[in-house]
Amino acid sequence: MAGIVVIFDFDRTIIDGDSDKWVVTEMGLTQLFSDLRSTVPWNSLMDRMMMELHSQGKTSSDIAGCLKRAFIHPQIISAIKAAHAFGCDLRIISDANQFFIETILEQHGVLGCFSHICTNPSFVDGRGRIRILPYHDLSLPSHGCNLCPSNLCKGLVIDQIQACASESGTGRRIIYLGDGNGDFCPTLRLEKGDYIMPRKNFPLWNRIHGNRRLIKAEIHEWSNGEELEKVLHHLINTISTEEVSCSSSGQLQTGSQEAAPQSLLVPY
Ligand SMILES: [Mg+2]
Ligand SMILES: [Zn+2]
Repeated sequence: MAGIVVIFDFDRTIIDGDSDKWVVTEMGLTQLFSDLRSTVPWNSLMDRMMMELHSQGKTSSDIAGCLKRAFIHPQIISAIKAAHAFGCDLRIISDANQFFIETILEQHGVLGCFSHICTNPSFVDGRGRIRILPYHDLSLPSHGCNLCPSNLCKGLVIDQIQACASESGTGRRIIYLGDGNGDFCPTLRLEKGDYIMPRKNFPLWNRIHGNRRLIKAEIHEWSNGEELEKVLHHLINTISTEEVSCSSSGQLQTGSQEAAPQSLLVPY
């Protein structure tokens, strides 16, 4: 349905674990990663890990093969397909990187469901090494947000989506799904009428519950793939029903309660 933007974080939201840590662990870099973790920012550290793998003779195909084994809950796949088929605008805002995210989504047949993937850009260089760069150009003045790492402020991306929506005069309702501390800044940008879906007992959920009065969006938690699908389905139907009621000059409201449209989005 036009007008509903569903924004997903990637790690521990779409995939059950963390794609960076998955590659580090599965490809034997745990020790080097933890040795450097305290001195190198995460984004640069992952670029460094790619350099290490390249120097060990591991190719980008080897890394892709590792990524393709990362787990996505089947009901998250079906939730993504259903929301896309219904006409929602699906996006990802993630502090992982383009190569990891695209490889995993393609493996599960859902890459084409997303209109935008805002993440740290990556490419395979002339020598076959994967390079991972920051989303924001670090040679420019800092984004100035003290909630976010210098390489990516997810709240700024939300600002751009909201600005585009108000410029074009189209109403936009946002549903944002996430789990981590990096998802708190975008949560604060959501407005009344939007929805936040924090993963229960993860850092975002804890921060939301410690700062309830700062949150304007309605909060709907989830714990696993089944719940994510159920809650997302429910929210899309709720918004659709409201929009239909608003735009149909009372036609759908003249009958009894039972006459109201119940389930516009049919899950797979
Ligand atoms: Mg996450
Ligand atoms: Zn921020």
